[in-house]
Amino acid sequence: MSKRHPRETMTPRERVLAALYGKKTDRIPVGNPTSVATVECMEACGVYFPDAHLDAHKMATLAATGYEILGYDTIAPYFSVQQEAAAFGCEMTWGDIDAMPDVRKNPFNSPEEIEISGDFLERPATRTVIEAIRLLKKEYGDHVCLVGKVMGPWTLSYHLYGVQKLLMDTILDPAKVHGFMKKLKQVPVMFANAQLEAGADVVTLADHATGDLVGPNTYRDFLLPVHQEITPQIKGPAILHICGRTTDRMSHIAKAGFAAFHFDSKNDTLEAKTIAAREGLLLVGNINNPDVLYAGTPEDVKKRVFEAAEAGIEIIGPECAVPLRTPNANLKAVVEAVREYCFR
Ligand SMILES: [Zn+2]
Repeated sequence: MSKRHPRETMTPRERVLAALYGKKTDRIPVGNPTSVATVECMEACGVYFPDAHLDAHKMATLAATGYEILGYDTIAPYFSVQQEAAAFGCEMTWGDIDAMPDVRKNPFNSPEEIEISGDFLERPATRTVIEAIRLLKKEYGDHVCLVGKVMGPWTLSYHLYGVQKLLMDTILDPAKVHGFMKKLKQVPVMFANAQLEAGADVVTLADHATGDLVGPNTYRDFLLPVHQEITPQIKGPAILHICGRTTDRMSHIAKAGFAAFHFDSKNDTLEAKTIAAREGLLLVGNINNPDVLYAGTPEDVKKRVFEAAEAGIEIIGPECAVPLRTPNANLKAVVEAVREYCFR
């Protein structure tokens, strides 16, 4: 893919950062706040899952294909959602070429059992992400937007304590849920700041309080106050990522202090944009993964990209980490469609 269109006057980094700060751009940026690593990208660069999760050079090489091969304006090296869980000592399945890592069991039963040790950022799983960003900064830092990623305290509680138990406790033992949030809120702050110091331009904070599992009041009561504490402590722009249905909590999310919100295609694009515009929230997304990017054609992708562009989505990209067997042709079609739309 050609790196630069003749009508483009900004670097990818300038373009994404301008969009995040609400400034004018030469075209809509194409961003990937989660992961666009595919099996095709692995084959092209010779680095494969699961090796790329725990080796900084391999992680950086595979992440760079997002720019080098797919033509995106961002490079995001943290592919999964489990690096912190591994650093907490959870027993891991590191997955395969086409399977993301996962925790085997949730080892902690209460917030008191969790210890955040002084060397948390030196553990292999966390250190790899920080080192990969440092390597990418040297190679791409003044040209491409580097995106770090951290898990928020809600998602960390899913991994360390268990999704079902946490959800039950929102009703049976809310004090315990607040206890997990209080204990874990420092983790995304320190991991995000280490990634920003290493050279990330922006950090995604994933905290999966999705409408598929919890109602809008759960976000308001358990997450919002903690997010409002976390965001001013992160020394750079942060993008909140929650997949699934979120339209019903976007007005709460708008008050949390994030630079933007990365949202899912389960939300009507125009309805989401209407709420976000009213609340002063910037949106990233929301091209459907399973039906469009994975199973669709470049024509289907173009149609969805035009809808997102027409709705005024500030940064266009996949709704979440893409399925690993997603065809690169469809991911490249996002960039091609954005150029076609903006330079008509
Ligand atoms: Zn997601």
